[in-house]
Amino acid sequence: MSFKPRIVADRPSLELARQAYREISLYAPDRSPCRIDISDNTNLYGIPPAAERAYREAAVSTLTRYPQLYAQQLKAALASYAGVSVAEVVTGCGSDDVLDSAIRAFAEPGETLAVCDPSFAMVPIFAQMNALKTAKVPLTRAFEIDPDALAGTGAKVIYVCSPNNPTGTLASPRSIERLLEKAEGIVVLDEAYAEFSQQEGFLKAAPRLERLLVVRTLSKAFGLAGLRIGYAVGPAALVAEVEKSRGPYKVSGSAERVATVALTEDRAWVDEKIADAIRSRERLAQALREMGLSPLPSASNFLLVPVPDAQALAKRMRQEGVAIRPFPGLHGIGDAVRISVGPWEMMEEALAALARILA
Ligand code: PMP
Repeated sequence: MSFKPRIVADRPSLELARQAYREISLYAPDRSPCRIDISDNTNLYGIPPAAERAYREAAVSTLTRYPQLYAQQLKAALASYAGVSVAEVVTGCGSDDVLDSAIRAFAEPGETLAVCDPSFAMVPIFAQMNALKTAKVPLTRAFEIDPDALAGTGAKVIYVCSPNNPTGTLASPRSIERLLEKAEGIVVLDEAYAEFSQQEGFLKAAPRLERLLVVRTLSKAFGLAGLRIGYAVGPAALVAEVEKSRGPYKVSGSAERVATVALTEDRAWVDEKIADAIRSRERLAQALREMGLSPLPSASNFLLVPVPDAQALAKRMRQEGVAIRPFPGLHGIGDAVRISVGPWEMMEEALAALARILA
């Protein structure tokens, strides 16, 4: 019998792809290298010292053998950091992976995910990847979440980000509690930037709250974005479902080792850099106000600054060697740029570039 493979014609065979995937575009912020990159809210102070040592000394077996199935050692370190028990923690390949896994664990295709507008741009993409509908619920004029409107969507998964990316603003504990009272589905509270907020957040409380999952990351305050470590804390029964959906072997052995060391030995370094970033944030906000700009009040390691033309400004800043993130047409805000905060010398360079452009 002769085998007659069907050859790809000059048009890709899109009809073979899943319906829900046809509209998905790849996440594509401008990541081209730039002298000063203050566009992605990572820690701009370098790597925590004990983590660096652990990375350099990682055993060859972490490369040649499979890692732990579900990163048990890392979960223990995270549980101790969060003040919860190990069964109340699930890890993933970045918090992106944890968010995606949580959505998949709790919502059937065709159900709805509710998200604030504006909020983390990846979330509607995760909804599409899981064949869900997205209901966008505007933030209030004071950049607060609207718990009644979020619950009113009847969504199976309600995503709230606090401090919120890209606004930097906090949801008040009272609105989160109201949302938890009224929501029919799961509330996924993304606290990726909580360490910069000087607020407790809901991490420790999450295991006692019936429908709450708090998601965090080592990519921001801990300075380990390249390791790809995220985690969620919540009631053990919910966490177990996310772990099923996430699947085994998602955290590499070397990443697990380095992250565990950072959590146990680098906390003083991390706290010091958080304090420095907060000082930089307040100084930068003041300097921007003196230039006639109006950054939003931020509880995070970045500032959102409304401007007339975000794309044009980000392009000009790149020409000056400074990468910032443009957000054109944000709901209720208009165009804005997001500037990550870090060591003051970097902020000074960014301010000098901005001053040259605005002049
Ligand atoms: N949540 C928020 C709000 C973020 O801003 C980011 C990073 N851009 C993430 C989650 C994902 O971070 P990671 O996958 O590196 O943990």
